[in-house]
Amino acid sequence: MEKQTREVKINQTKLAIIQGDITRQATDAIVNAANPGLMGGGGVDGAIHRAGGSAILEECKQIVAEQGRLPTGKAVITTGGNLRAKHVIHTVGPIWQGGNKGEAALLESAYRESLKLAAERNLTSISFPSISTGAYGYPVAEAARVAIKVAVSFLTEQVTSLTEVVFVLFDSRTYEAYSSALEEVV
Ligand code: ADP
Repeated sequence: MEKQTREVKINQTKLAIIQGDITRQATDAIVNAANPGLMGGGGVDGAIHRAGGSAILEECKQIVAEQGRLPTGKAVITTGGNLRAKHVIHTVGPIWQGGNKGEAALLESAYRESLKLAAERNLTSISFPSISTGAYGYPVAEAARVAIKVAVSFLTEQVTSLTEVVFVLFDSRTYEAYSSALEEVV
């Protein structure tokens, strides 16, 4: 399934892009492109809940009961349930509304808050899907530039527990967009 791959080193951390299915990743955490209600849904969200089982949804329900809906650009962590990954970090990307509604800053925040949470928990590896570029309609070339830029700057600014950050892109078109974005910065 993982057809293509490419990687660079930033400080001590490996930053990689691969084409594949994020539910099969064995990193400490995988990131879910969730929605604010944290109740599962379509796309990668549905795939993660299906593969991980009910323990993930139970924790999501508890989080929403305690702190309410998850605002766009924020992140929370749950068990990985039956997944190979021990944890799922749920974040909410922005819905694309033409580009003048703060979408780039919100997308940047979704990635940064997820990376911060992983580092705070001392995780060593994390996988991201292409947040917001499915049902949420964010143009993939622009989203890829934001995603790669945040990862590179986060890893350049500080040394953390993270030794590996992976973008797991489902289709070749998305993979190519991230590949081009990576080429622009390294
Ligand atoms: P959003 O609502 O944030 O746009 P989607 O789940 O609709 O989230 O799409 C985000 C990206 O995740 C899309 O590129 C989609 O193709 C991709 N995707 C869907 N299933 C998987 C999966 N199992 N692994 C990795 N990426 C996936």
